Amino acid sequence: MTYDKPLPNRDTLNQPFWAAAAQGRLLLQHCPACGDRRFPPTPVCPQCLAGDQDWVEASGQGTLESWIDMHRAYWDGFKDELPYRVCLVRLQEGPVMVSNLVDNADNPRLGASVRVVFDKVTDTVTLPKFTLT
Ligand SMILES: [Zn+2]
Repeated sequence: MTYDKPLPNRDTLNQPFWAAAAQGRLLLQHCPACGDRRFPPTPVCPQCLAGDQDWVEASGQGTLESWIDMHRAYWDGFKDELPYRVCLVRLQEGPVMVSNLVDNADNPRLGASVRVVFDKVTDTVTLPKFTLT
């Protein structure tokens, strides 16, 4: 069975993020100089312009900032899953991620607690998604 949904563009900058996701860990890029944590990663720190950046593991906990149910399949791969849920999650560490909310509960409450879950969609790609806690 082939996976016919969009896959993330992986490059040398974000490779640590995807490698960790494949191991069930959620990483954020971190600036050792000023402590900024972010996703997606950037070549230099947007706060202090330091070039040496590393990675730290996130708790995987966050709050639901927004969500929508997609009722139209812009890619054929989503046709059989309509409606599917897209969400914005503010991680406990601060950064906001766009992802999928795997729960189909009616009207999830904004500000609800969520935690990351990992969906291995291909042999090489595991997507972080979120579920209500
Ligand atoms: Zn910095």
